[in-house]
Amino acid sequence: MRIDNEPKLDFDDVLIRPKRTRLASRKEVDLHRTFKLPNSGKTITGIPIIAANMDRVATLEMAKALAEHDLYCAIHKHYSIDELKAAPLSGDFNFITFGIEHIKVIKDRLEALKGHGIDKLCLDVANGYTEMFVDFIKEVREELPDTVIMAGNVATPDMTEALILAGADIVKVGIGPGSVCETRSVTGVGYPQISATIECADAAHGLGGLICADGGCRTSGDVAKAFAAGADFVMLGGMLAGHTETLSAEEIKELDRNNNQIEYYGMSSTEAMNKYSGGVAEHRASEGRVSSIAYRGDVRDTILAILGGLRSTCTYVGASRLKELSKRTTFVVKYSTVRT
Ligand code: 5GP
Repeated sequence: MRIDNEPKLDFDDVLIRPKRTRLASRKEVDLHRTFKLPNSGKTITGIPIIAANMDRVATLEMAKALAEHDLYCAIHKHYSIDELKAAPLSGDFNFITFGIEHIKVIKDRLEALKGHGIDKLCLDVANGYTEMFVDFIKEVREELPDTVIMAGNVATPDMTEALILAGADIVKVGIGPGSVCETRSVTGVGYPQISATIECADAAHGLGGLICADGGCRTSGDVAKAFAAGADFVMLGGMLAGHTETLSAEEIKELDRNNNQIEYYGMSSTEAMNKYSGGVAEHRASEGRVSSIAYRGDVRDTILAILGGLRSTCTYVGASRLKELSKRTTFVVKYSTVRT
């Protein structure tokens, strides 16, 4: 056993120090970023916020609404090929999600979606530290050399490097920070998300790779802190849940009867495992919870509020482009954090 005594920080432990600026208005801030990806060689441009690959978040309707604002969506993996084919998907802004799968399953889906121009994969496992996952990324990269691969989750620099060297373009960072995640309480495993983001971004950027900070954002201020910590992309679950685009027609009809409350659950919750895996296997424990959240209307207003908040952060530190935000950030650690 070893103790790492260096303090590690979470969203609530830090604030961004304001700096003098020449910017006169939030309108002057450009939130778009263009990235050249290291392993696929692709170049992508958009506002680098991604809906989390959860069935209560990253629906086809959510993908459409986000793409209208140049935001991304990691469409959840439980749609059939026919459902995906019939949807008006934008190849520019959509990732399709897989767990560890036979390569043929991935190739068949990509082939079926060729018409949409989809060339981005989100390879998602709860624990990105297994050799099996590294081998899987290597295989996908070998078979699909030009495809954009986002893969995770991990929370430390060594494993960020390993996934990029295996073929990932973007590494998803976050073990335990999610709003409906129970990993920290069930297993005791985790890493405070601001420190994970800073350390993993540094490792990824050293290899020309990128990271996506995944989980724990509750406000636009948290999204700004994640970018300020060096995240290239930020993934959101809870902040996008509860909107019209995530609900079935039946749920929308029942809103009144349910006092405008909606069920939101983690993808490793008992709820999700009952729905997709025929229950929780005996050797497993649920690592996600179900929560009841208030219906929030269409997602457009939430998107505009997040982007408005982010522009405002940029003006507070004099960043005319999102790209400059981390370079212009000094985090201050709150006294309450230092004291405890
Ligand atoms: P949020 O934005 O809601 O704080 O976090 C979203 C992230 O939580 C997802 O992208 C995913 O990484 C993580 N997540 C989703 N469902 C579960 C779950 O059931 N268990 C755990 N441990 N993490 C989850």
